[in-house]
Amino acid sequence: MILTGLASLVAGSMSMATGEYVSVSSQADTEKAALKLEKAELAHDPEAEHRELANLYMQRGLDRSLAQAVATQLMAHDAIGTHARDELGISEITQARPLQAALASALSFAVGAAMPLAITAITPGRLLIGVLVAATLVGLAGLGALAAKTGGAPALPAAIRVTCWSALAMGSTVAIGSAFNASV
Ligand SMILES: [Zn+2]
Repeated sequence: MILTGLASLVAGSMSMATGEYVSVSSQADTEKAALKLEKAELAHDPEAEHRELANLYMQRGLDRSLAQAVATQLMAHDAIGTHARDELGISEITQARPLQAALASALSFAVGAAMPLAITAITPGRLLIGVLVAATLVGLAGLGALAAKTGGAPALPAAIRVTCWSALAMGSTVAIGSAFNASV
């Protein structure tokens, strides 16, 4: 059982990493293509790009003359950067990074899978399900609180939300499993 668990840990981490890599890569490709198009447009017709930017700022609440002045100064400062951020919504913070995302996914999956595996290794068989469920819910509540704290949100509602939804997910997994007669 431990061996199977270890195998699933490795397989799961790898499949999470692959899935994340593919999905973030295609996002990165889309962003790259959009940036390339934007660069071509800037080279080809900077005046239209300036109008486009000024219109965007007007939509966001600036009056015409201020919007035009902002567009002029920002484009003089960093034309492609300004268009990427204000028109396409791509900034350095939001830019897709496939490798980073894949590593983060694999690592969090491995850490998340290691905990129940360790509990399985040290808990006697007849107590296992109960201990595992309790430990998982406590761990999830802790992670929910930690995630909220990291993001600057109140910890308690996040912990409750994560725990309740996870309990529901575990419960329905068990229910579906026993409906198909799989051993839990
Ligand atoms: Zn543009």
